[in-house]
Order: sequence, then C-alpha cells, then structure tokens
Amino acid sequence: MGLEIQSTNLLLVALVISSLLSFSISIVYFEYLKKGGSWRIAFQFFVFLPVLVSLITIFYIAITSNPITTVLYYFISFFVLLLFVGKLPRFKCRKMEEFDKIENLPVFICYEKKGKIYNAWYNLKKKEIGITKSLFEILSEEERRAVFYHEIGHSKVKFWDLMTRLTCFLWLISVSLILTMCGLIVFLSGYNWLNKIVFSATYLAFLPIYAVSFMISSWVNEHEADGYAVRSIGFKPKAQALIKLHVYSSLKGCENTISAIEFPNSFDLEELSFYYVLKAIIRRVFIYMYPQTVLNQPLPETHPPLRLRLEKIVKVQNNE
Ligand SMILES: [Zn+2]
Repeated sequence: MGLEIQSTNLLLVALVISSLLSFSISIVYFEYLKKGGSWRIAFQFFVFLPVLVSLITIFYIAITSNPITTVLYYFISFFVLLLFVGKLPRFKCRKMEEFDKIENLPVFICYEKKGKIYNAWYNLKKKEIGITKSLFEILSEEERRAVFYHEIGHSKVKFWDLMTRLTCFLWLISVSLILTMCGLIVFLSGYNWLNKIVFSATYLAFLPIYAVSFMISSWVNEHEADGYAVRSIGFKPKAQALIKLHVYSSLKGCENTISAIEFPNSFDLEELSFYYVLKAIIRRVFIYMYPQTVLNQPLPETHPPLRLRLEKIVKVQNNE
C-alpha cells in the first residue's frame, strides 16, 4: 500500500511539472502572437532546454546501467527512428522543371507521380525551392510569389530552423527513452499491475513537454517565414495563399467549385483569446497521444493552425 501512495505522488509530480512547462510555453507563445518578438520564446527555451536535457540524461543513465535494458533501449530507439524516417513527407516527382529564379534561388516545379499534393518546400542542401504542379496551378502569380517568399524566409530564419531540429532530436530521444522505461516497468519489473500502470503513466506524463517544445519551435519557425513573406510581398497574397492552401487541401476534388472564392482587401479578425491558443496546443498534443495517430504521422504537427498564422501575419502587417 505504501508503495502505491508513493507512486501516485510521483505521477502527480510528473503531471504538475509537465502541465506547468507546457502551460508556460503556451503563455509565451500567445504573447509572441500578440506582440511579436521571437526572442521571448528563444529566452524561454534557453531556460527550458537544460531541464529537458537533464530529464533525458536521468532516464538514459537509469536505463543504460544494465546491459539487458541497454539492448532494449537501442532496439526501441531504432524502431522509433524507422517509424519517423519512414513517414517523413516525401514527394515523388515524375519530373522537375526549373521555372524561375527568386533572390538567386532556383524555383522548380515538381510534377507529382500520382494524385494531387499541395505543397512547396525549401531544399536546404541544394539551396532551391520546390512547388508541386497542383499547388502551382491553384494559386495566382502573386500568391505563388508569397509562397516562394515564405520558402526563402526559411532560408533566412536560421535560428528557428536550428531550434526546431534540436527540439525534434530531443523529442525523438525522449520518446525512445520513455517507451523503454514503460517497457521495463510493464514486462521486466515485479510490480503489481496497479503500480505498473501508475509508473508507466508517470513516464508518459513527461512526453507532452517534449512534444510541445518541438511543436512550438516549429510553429515559430513557420510564423517567422510567413513574416518574411509579408514584409517582402505584402499581406494580402500571403493570406490568400494560406487560406486557399487550407481549403483546397481539405476539399480535394472540389477545386473547380471553390476556385472563385473572393477575398476582401482587409482582414478583420476577432480578438484572439489565450483560451483558443491553449486549446489549439493541448488538442494537438492529446490527439497526438493516440497510437493510431502516431503510426500515421509520427511527428507532432509542424505547422500552426491557420487561424494563428493569420493572426500573426495581420500583426506583422500592422507593425510595418
Ligand atoms: Zn514553411
């Protein structure tokens, strides 16, 4: 009985730490959306990263102190990595055709192998921009430029690109470690079933912090690239491109019906509440906890919800 009370306390502590960290990232992210200044979030990560790394180190040392659990850990990490690499978004292009040059970066059109894919990307290694033929066709020339400038933005926002890679790496390691811990507790420990559940839940409670850290740094990376596009080509084409991309992606097959959507010249957005932002983040983290979702899309959502992207670019425009 004594052990059960102690283990429930541990679970509570883990839940409190996890919620506090996730909640405070959400507050700072909300401030960033409202007032700008990605340094706020950068500063927060400066404080957070040591905590995230320390937790990982503690788990790692606990696991690798025993040769059997070390093997289990490497086995699970390998599995997680395979899952991750296997599901990375990849575009098979039938043919790539150079179309233009923007700011000295070549722009290629990718003719998709099958189906319609609405996407554009910046290839860091080759220093080139790609856009799928389908996306190319549904956008006006101005909107395309807004998309290209977003991608150029990615080539400029180096700090957040690095931060996203770092938090993604921490997330991958933490998932492997936490899954190994749960495996050890469930299959190799002599605890009773109640303690097995409570201890596993304790470790799982740490996962959201890593998911939220990775998600928010990736979102800021996208917002910063959006900001670059708005400053380069203006607000309206960027907003239109974002909304079209969103609508067309969720209504594939209805392209002809919706191609006539008209946009107003100014966007009046209702006041964004902190509750909305918090809900958006929490929902994405919890949806993400379903095993089926993880198998379909191992990475937490890398792009912010459309409403938040619009909020940010309206603010960027108003600050100019
Ligand atoms: Zn992007």
